Amino acid sequence: MISNFPAPYPDELIYSVIARYAVHNGILSPKYLTEELFNNRNLTPTYDLPSHLDRLASYLPDHYDALILINQHTLLPIYQPFQPDTVMIYAMQALRGEHYQSLHTRLGKNASRIKSVNFFRFCPHCWQEQMEQYGEVYWKCSWQITGYEYCTRHQQPLFVSCIPCNGIDRKFYFAHLNTLKDSSQLVFNLQDLHHHIELARLIEELLAHSTFITVQDFSILSKAYFTLLKDRDLLSGRKNINYEKVRQLVVDYWSKSFLQYYQLGDLSSENCWLKNICRKHRKAFSYLEHLILLKALVPEQSPIHTYQQYLDMAATATEKQTIPVNVKPETNQTLSEDQLKWIQLIQEMSVKQARQYDGAMYARLYRNHKDWLLKINQIAVTTPPSRPKPRVDWGIRDRQFTKQLIKIRDELLEDLDSLQWTKKFLIKQLGHVSLIEKNWYFLPLTKAFLEHYAESVDCYQIRRLTRTYIRQQTENKYYPPSVFLRLAGLSPQRLTPEARRFFDNIMGK
Ligand SMILES: [Zn+2]
Repeated sequence: MISNFPAPYPDELIYSVIARYAVHNGILSPKYLTEELFNNRNLTPTYDLPSHLDRLASYLPDHYDALILINQHTLLPIYQPFQPDTVMIYAMQALRGEHYQSLHTRLGKNASRIKSVNFFRFCPHCWQEQMEQYGEVYWKCSWQITGYEYCTRHQQPLFVSCIPCNGIDRKFYFAHLNTLKDSSQLVFNLQDLHHHIELARLIEELLAHSTFITVQDFSILSKAYFTLLKDRDLLSGRKNINYEKVRQLVVDYWSKSFLQYYQLGDLSSENCWLKNICRKHRKAFSYLEHLILLKALVPEQSPIHTYQQYLDMAATATEKQTIPVNVKPETNQTLSEDQLKWIQLIQEMSVKQARQYDGAMYARLYRNHKDWLLKINQIAVTTPPSRPKPRVDWGIRDRQFTKQLIKIRDELLEDLDSLQWTKKFLIKQLGHVSLIEKNWYFLPLTKAFLEHYAESVDCYQIRRLTRTYIRQQTENKYYPPSVFLRLAGLSPQRLTPEARRFFDNIMGK
């Protein structure tokens, strides 16, 4: 059992924590190090997406778990908002477990245009501060993210060390002040400097919100972008995207040389990233591509906010489409006579029987409304026609759910330790997840309640700060700010501005 594994510092890579452990314990042999920590002599260090996190969490105090390590001390959060749930579930398991293959490939990292960092990067002024505060220096996660080229705290470009973080012979390198000697500062086109600074800020914002955004599948992303392009008046006709206009917006906002710096300069060939991201999504795009496009399309607001807003709209529109026909009569008004007859038939008999009963009508529908037909048949399969569902009085249901929710919220108000009260979390407490999600539009009171009382990231962070503050007062102790944040499970970089104000206030700043 390892008892002296160091706790990670704010925004520190797990990789760096392991390297510090080796130094603290005088371990020189990489094989001995991985043998001792992971029972495996042949483990290759991975700076961005390390595995074995369940095991590492077990070496740390109780308030650490693999999830906290993943969200605050690896680079997975820059992928999360842009990957479908299935990939993210795989990735989480891979990082928690002992073996993983192909994670970088599944996340699209290997095929990505965005070049990963090859040498560790750092800010010498941050190092100086770390030295003063902790007596040692470490590698921060954010420094190793392509696009985060600039320390927003000290307002200067990062330095690139000569210590490789990729390559075959890699091992655990700890951060050391001597590194400064052989390092060089990143150089940008002067006229692009403000964009690099802006991008670094957008990445900080992405890191603060990434764990709260989930994507069901690629179709939601395609829909979200299509609606966004439509809202910004970037379609020609009803369905075609006016790439030339989109391209112009992106170039005007960011400039050609800036885009070239990140290998994103090709905006006009048939298969370029910009055209593909506007089309149907078949694979994931990188955080840089999303941030750059979203900001150019809606410069007046934060790209993460825009992204979340359009994802929510797309998800809600999808829910609307899957509402069963028997409870949504008004949609029937726009259906053809064949479609109406078919709905009636599949409510009385199985799809197969209905097809045999009127083959000609089935063929017509297949020709003219194939997508609709397949969707409606799917619904019919899940509701056996032999047992008609009792009519649901949605009004009564809606009031029942709302009453239950009020009770749940009152109980939660007493419980500072609970998880974030997201909509999903509250719905789960009701115990009718799919019923509510599928019939969202028949439950206006429930919907309004959830929208009003679901906890924002601000409130959730403030609740965690409050909890730690109470702990501090009852134990009659004073925690320095960094320890305080660590106990609250928060990192200074990821505090929202609102939570930051609250934090400064209770710290008496
Ligand atoms: Zn700095």
